Amino acid sequence: MIQKYLNAIIHLFYPELCMGCNQSLLDQEEIICTSCLFHLPLTKFHLDANNEAVQLFKGKVPFAFACSMLYLKPDSISESLIYNLKYNNHPQVGLFLGRRYGEDLLSSPVFEDIDLIVPIPLHKKRRRKRGYNQSEYFAKGLSESLLKPVNFSLLKRNKYQSSQTKMASSDRYQNVKGAFSCISPEKAKGKCILLVDDVLTTGATLSSAAEEILQSIPDCKIYIATMAIA
Ligand SMILES: [Zn+2]
Repeated sequence: MIQKYLNAIIHLFYPELCMGCNQSLLDQEEIICTSCLFHLPLTKFHLDANNEAVQLFKGKVPFAFACSMLYLKPDSISESLIYNLKYNNHPQVGLFLGRRYGEDLLSSPVFEDIDLIVPIPLHKKRRRKRGYNQSEYFAKGLSESLLKPVNFSLLKRNKYQSSQTKMASSDRYQNVKGAFSCISPEKAKGKCILLVDDVLTTGATLSSAAEEILQSIPDCKIYIATMAIA
């Protein structure tokens, strides 16, 4: 009871702010306000077998399906969410997006086969710097809605890479070649793996990870989901 009053007082002086528009959140709102939630730029890719994400990976790596939750547009709610998640120490944004996207994916028969969710790992140096891996939180949120386990250790990142944001697509592919190792592949033998990451740009990172998994576990099937597509 006392805790409840204390929280109410704290909330009065330090209201939680919407990570989309910076307005105060109401009690029942979480991460973003109702208006921002309504205006989230959802792609609905999970309902489209020929979506942009599928097009991006076609011919690059064998995969069953690919989709992204949000369009990442400049000065948008999605950009603000991803920024808070990656650079502002708000890992709970990843959890929030994962839970919501998991609910969406349940409406598509494509994802019924998923056995396992695997987040793209960060190099341990970058992870230490940020304090967490944003894709792991997205994976946890998806896991809560899809009721499928997360394997946090199937992939290991070998190379420490500088930011790829300003690199051309071909350079990115070169940059992530051999970036991952598959650890204990016997644990994922014959499984349908949902590989998840934060932002899909050229697909180089996810292709490299998928390639490594398929080389170590040839009988598994790869699905791809990201929080946003740039
Ligand atoms: Zn808002």
